Amino acid sequence: RRSNSSVVYPGGPPEFPPVKKLNPLQKKRILVSGGAGFVGSHLVDRLMLMGHDVIAIDNYFTGSKMNLAHWFGHPNFEMIRHDVVDPIMLEVDQIYHLACPASPVHYQANPVKTLKTGFFGTYNMLGLAKRVKARFLLTSTSEVYGDPEEHPQKETYWGHVNCIGPRACYDEGKRVAEALTYSYARQDGVDVRVARIFNTFGPRMNWHDGRVVSNFIVQALKGDDITIYGDGSATRSFQYVHDLVDGLIALMESDYTDPVNLGNPEEYTIKEFADMIVELVNEHRARYGDAGKTSTVTYLPAVADDPQRRKPDTTRAKEVLGWAPQWAAVDGLKETVAYFYQMMHQH
Ligand code: NAD
Ligand code: UDP
Repeated sequence: RRSNSSVVYPGGPPEFPPVKKLNPLQKKRILVSGGAGFVGSHLVDRLMLMGHDVIAIDNYFTGSKMNLAHWFGHPNFEMIRHDVVDPIMLEVDQIYHLACPASPVHYQANPVKTLKTGFFGTYNMLGLAKRVKARFLLTSTSEVYGDPEEHPQKETYWGHVNCIGPRACYDEGKRVAEALTYSYARQDGVDVRVARIFNTFGPRMNWHDGRVVSNFIVQALKGDDITIYGDGSATRSFQYVHDLVDGLIALMESDYTDPVNLGNPEEYTIKEFADMIVELVNEHRARYGDAGKTSTVTYLPAVADDPQRRKPDTTRAKEVLGWAPQWAAVDGLKETVAYFYQMMHQH
């Protein structure tokens, strides 16, 4: 039990996860923009457990305070409601810049805002990094490769993006964010890192996130139709969130400044993925003696500019970070199904 001695808690002080004690030279103050989101909240957890001071900023567009509620009141943790499109003055040692909606449903709902977040959000975080001489890490995306003509995708590939299509607000937002990042590095000597993240899933994805993993799990749990856009032959390679957090921290702590792919090269068609999720949901329900209704797949029209194949080449991450994913997609999915099952039975 930890207590803040000046505060009296009715029923005793709150219980926190065990945080490492660092000496003042090792302890950093770290800003995580988008900290209340799916990836951001897992990153905050890890940095907190490592013993750092963590400031999370978020406008709660797709994230939730509940993802970080277990840290409220901890002396190393601070949460600020803030939109990164506006400047902010803070003193920090490192910045992980994640703030940006990541699901096509959300980033296409207000494409102008997504572009403003991509440009001004990154501009403000880089300006802050420059002013306080903080190391800056951008969470870029495999979407900078667009609908790729090279497979698997290496960091040296320049991409194939439709700059006027419905995904452009996100893809081009991230491409300009990368361009800004390297311009600040060249012009002002800002110390930068760029992670190109491939499809990542795990607990704390928003129930209404709209990306394929959470959609299929929620549909399977409710016994609704599994909605495949197109014929289900498009591929994605799915990474479990804990592997991504390992990779982000390894990259931040490394000396490597060029972009690095972080993803799991295990590649599935969307149809294979749908079948796998229905089976895992049925197995999970059976464990609780819960018969439920088995979902069937329904095919809906394909979405515009949907990348047809995606798989990371992770050679660079192995070479420069010594990083490789440790979780098989199926094991991560079991944990994610358990999370959504619990969410469904809480509400
Ligand atoms: P998410 O939507 O769960 O999290 C994004 C967070 O940013 C949310 O908490 C949201 O409220 C916040 N946010 C959005 N716009 C903001 C703004 N203008 N100001 C302040 N906060 C804002 O998505 P995620 O999956 O956790 O993605 C995190 C980052 O990783 C994003 O930058 C995303 O582009 C990148 N990424 C994720 C994936 C993936 O598969 N999860 C893949 C590639 C890249
Ligand atoms: N998809 C699907 N049904 C859904 C959600 C997504 O068939 O309910 C497909 C989508 O068309 C794409 C893949 O799943 O081919 C991954 O989509 P997601 O939105 O998760 O992420 P993306 O990689 O496209 O950004």
